[in-house]
Amino acid sequence: MSSDADKKDVLLSAQHIKVYYKGKNRKTGPVRAVDDVSFDIMKGETFGIVGESGCGKSTIGRALIRLEHITDGSVIFRGQDISKLKKKELKDVRRHAQMVFQDPAACLNPRRTVKQIIEEPFMIHGVPEGVSLDERVEELVKKVGLDTYHLSRYPHELSGGQKQRVGIARAIALNPDLVICDEAVSALDVSVQAQVLNLLSDLKSDLGLTYIFISHNLNVVYQVSDRVGVMYLGKMVEIAPYDRLYEKRYHPYTQALLSAIPQVDGDGKTERIRLKGEVPSPSDPPSGCRFHTRCPHCCEICEKEMPPLREIEPGHFVACHLYDEQTEKENTPETPVTQ
Ligand code: SF4
Repeated sequence: MSSDADKKDVLLSAQHIKVYYKGKNRKTGPVRAVDDVSFDIMKGETFGIVGESGCGKSTIGRALIRLEHITDGSVIFRGQDISKLKKKELKDVRRHAQMVFQDPAACLNPRRTVKQIIEEPFMIHGVPEGVSLDERVEELVKKVGLDTYHLSRYPHELSGGQKQRVGIARAIALNPDLVICDEAVSALDVSVQAQVLNLLSDLKSDLGLTYIFISHNLNVVYQVSDRVGVMYLGKMVEIAPYDRLYEKRYHPYTQALLSAIPQVDGDGKTERIRLKGEVPSPSDPPSGCRFHTRCPHCCEICEKEMPPLREIEPGHFVACHLYDEQTEKENTPETPVTQ
């Protein structure tokens, strides 16, 4: 989802991605974790993906670098469709796209020292010419704000923030183009969160990285993102530059999500929108618009037809029948919300 003028700057293009899992039994359909999602990631940007837990945001993050099987659709990364590549062929993709996970403790081998953990990518892909492995590892550990004495430590001897720094060092070891941060600061204390976010921001500038930043926490996504995609029940329902989304949120689900953010300097006029009902099961999603069972603006067409993701302003995409050209005038509520 980018204008034609921007196409030359696209690093990754997700096109009609579906990730389905088998249902528990014959009666239930497949679990549609991600269901026909398309968007582009531009070189050098941070694209935030936000939504409630179970909306498919982590699944799509993993699917984009083939850590998850893609049922249908394609992922064009650095000009190549990687969606059908065989396991062996993915080695080169992993060199250029890395992931930072939520729980650093769970993805660092407890039997390995920090040095051995950071060396792992070089064992698979080789050491760049002109530097020794030891030099490169020392450079990396310093780059993420640790000291060389940490290299001999084991994960259990580190704090949560230090473990995540080790995870980040491993992720940037091979100078990737893209780093996907999946709830990368969610398990950390607020003050440590801020330090790790600052580190990610510094690394982005120093190394020219592109990030996909996945989180359930809109506040965190706002702090780091250039553009934000909002997901609901396996669908992308709104994509916009972060500042546009903050000023004008069109989709009723985005409005509800944003109304839950406390306004430190606000005038108190934005009322919290409380959604009715539970999030439906992704193995039995509602007909038409996935959000219609909880939407305060649901109308007849919403139960029957899935709204497409449409560009309603330059760079601002929304999937909602309220903004269909023919129904816009009569149905538009007092939206977009502006503050
Ligand atoms: Fe609500 Fe209908 Fe828009 Fe879906 S399409 S978000 S149900 S108004």
